[in-house]
Amino acid sequence: MVPVWYKSWPKGIPRKMACPEVTLPEMVKKLARQIPRREAVNFYGKSISYAQLERMVASFAASLLQLGIGRGDRVCLFMQNCPQYIIALLAVWWIGAVAVTANPMFREGELAYQLNDSGAETVILLDVLYPVLRRILRKTRVRNVIITGYKDFLPEKPELPLHPSLKVPRQFFPGTMEMMELLDCHSEPPAVNLDPQKDLALLQYSSGITGKPKGAMITHANMLFNTACSALWLKAKDGIHLAVLPLFHVTGLVHCMNMPLFTGGTIILLARYDTETVLQAIERYRCTHWVSVAGMNFAVVNYPKVKKYDLSSLKVCVSGGVPIPPEVIRKFKEITGIQLVEGYGLSETISQVAVNPLDKPRPGSVGIPVISTEVKIVDLSDPSREVPPGEMGELMVRGPQVTRGYWNRPEETALLIKDGWLATGDIARMDVDGYIYILGRKNELIKVAGHSVFPQEVERYLGNHPAIAEVAVVGTPDPFWGEIVKAYVVLKREFENRISEIDIISWARQKMPLYKYPRVVEFRRELPKNGDGKILRRILAAESYCNLAGI
Ligand code: AMP
Repeated sequence: MVPVWYKSWPKGIPRKMACPEVTLPEMVKKLARQIPRREAVNFYGKSISYAQLERMVASFAASLLQLGIGRGDRVCLFMQNCPQYIIALLAVWWIGAVAVTANPMFREGELAYQLNDSGAETVILLDVLYPVLRRILRKTRVRNVIITGYKDFLPEKPELPLHPSLKVPRQFFPGTMEMMELLDCHSEPPAVNLDPQKDLALLQYSSGITGKPKGAMITHANMLFNTACSALWLKAKDGIHLAVLPLFHVTGLVHCMNMPLFTGGTIILLARYDTETVLQAIERYRCTHWVSVAGMNFAVVNYPKVKKYDLSSLKVCVSGGVPIPPEVIRKFKEITGIQLVEGYGLSETISQVAVNPLDKPRPGSVGIPVISTEVKIVDLSDPSREVPPGEMGELMVRGPQVTRGYWNRPEETALLIKDGWLATGDIARMDVDGYIYILGRKNELIKVAGHSVFPQEVERYLGNHPAIAEVAVVGTPDPFWGEIVKAYVVLKREFENRISEIDIISWARQKMPLYKYPRVVEFRRELPKNGDGKILRRILAAESYCNLAGI
């Protein structure tokens, strides 16, 4: 049967595609010969050509081999975005080792957990993060510590404003190895014959929104497929890509690093998000592609000086991670002239599963399943029953990007994947044209007197209130309704002390059904978030239950 989304298929994109027969380091090697002088990476004005990148990657790969690191060994990267991240990842893949990417916001407990769970014996990290590792080193199996610092790759006269964390003096620590010295060994590592379908490229720890973080096993084939797929879907060839999403997260990795390098493009790499720097970077380097998350788009469209910048070079802007409020999409178009399109994916699928066709995006939808990807929506209480278009259920995915499972966790893997179908834990519906709408997470559903309320839907409504900068919705116990809706709200600065919680509740009551509008609103200065900017609703939900129980 022809899938319903075929009728919405974008022009010129194949419906099916084989996984590329090349690894990313091999691709960079090829490009270093074809376009040696083309800029591969630009870091605040420090330019690295494809030829230079390939030389540094080869040297570092040879050094890792000399340290006794080889195929299948886990190597943890604990860094913010910097060129060394790209060099380290490519070198790890070159020798067939497996990258374990750690969130640079981790404290000791989280880092120790990930190092021990993955069994990593090598860590490559930024000097500023070394104190975190030092305190737990003895509780892990780590034997190689390789250090680098922003200063090693920053130009003398940066072309963009530097975040204060990039200005700290370079630190050196005894008992560690300096990455810069390992980039300089000038020997070519032997080629490793990898099996892209079996060899792991990555253990991607899923964001921990459900249960303990688990390492999704991502093969080179999973990763290369999604890279090549994105490159076609987003017309990436020869683009100038703004890379401000963290590379430790799948969306940043695939779209801001892999995709540009796979297509001979340039990565305009930023260590941290800052609206002014982002706008300056787009204008100065004439960026054509920007893959981001909704929070960044929100900040850009509300930035008072945004109209001062020439953003006319932008051709493709994609966002995801959380729903994008329609108001942000509208303003983004007004400012840049282009349509911001939404996509959807998970750590377990190394980013995208669905993206809006660039030629016919639908605001509010995450788009249609991408190349060679099957999607079905199944009944929440009977997963063997596929529901028809319009009905909601759990979103299931089958395709070349789906992980082989969780590292060392056969039981959790068996729950996650059955007959190749991955259960996403997301509740969604599909319309008759195959566009998917994410309604919320299965385990975050709020039950108000038996009615299902999706936090994301209420958040979308509230996002249209002119005073609200950010909002998170959770359930809170209520003796009459069982549960009621509670909204944690961050106000835009200019509305602080000018609007009350009751004002927001009254506004919402007029817009939403009786069981859906928030009956409790609490103002906060900020909301708890994970490293890639996703609001941690489960923390707020736990708080709202604990407060009421007097815990
Ligand atoms: P992670 O594994 O950290 O990338 O988180 C994946 C989860 O993020 C998905 O299962 C969804 O719940 C959520 N997600 C990703 N993209 C979107 C989107 N465009 N709209 C709503 N939720 C999204």
